Amino acid sequence: MSASAAPMLAVPGVGTRWLKRVDMAGPIPSHAPELGPCWPWRGSTNNRGYAVISAGGRTRLLHLVVYPLVHGPIPTGWEVDHLCHHPDYCAKKDGCPHRACGNPGHWKARTPEENNLRSGSPTAVNARKDECIRGHALVGDNLIVRADRPEHRECRECRRLRRAMALALDVATAGGTGEQLGLL
Ligand SMILES: [Zn+2]
Ligand SMILES: [Zn+2]
Ligand SMILES: [Zn+2]
Repeated sequence: MSASAAPMLAVPGVGTRWLKRVDMAGPIPSHAPELGPCWPWRGSTNNRGYAVISAGGRTRLLHLVVYPLVHGPIPTGWEVDHLCHHPDYCAKKDGCPHRACGNPGHWKARTPEENNLRSGSPTAVNARKDECIRGHALVGDNLIVRADRPEHRECRECRRLRRAMALALDVATAGGTGEQLGLL
């Protein structure tokens, strides 16, 4: 899927039911306010605190079934990281509320090595100002600096993702059930 296309949010076998089980007005991560609010999951979680949903007769991790709709396929062997979690700002380990965050904009697939590096390096966020929170390079055309807020560096790729998500949410929730989306 190209980044500019509006992602479809209807999960095969689930439809857009999952959108009714998230609270889209959750807390905004203090270490990365540009991510926007978490969407705390009000459905079931597994024993490690991750959001799960019944899809195609099986219980599956929410982020694994929804991630490909928004971001494209997860490369083999990669893991989905929750960007709203950061070890400096989240004292909890197994009880971390971010594991049940259902906002697809807060997920990023990484290699297991990258994932370990991030969780083991508390200062990584502050050290990498040349990248946005999602790892896009903040240079050239991708860097937006507004004249009225020169200290605020915005990522064009993230802005595109936010707009595409907003459009997809409009489409997915317009009919109430999303059954008209053709992906059920
Ligand atoms: Zn989140
Ligand atoms: Zn956390
Ligand atoms: Zn970005």
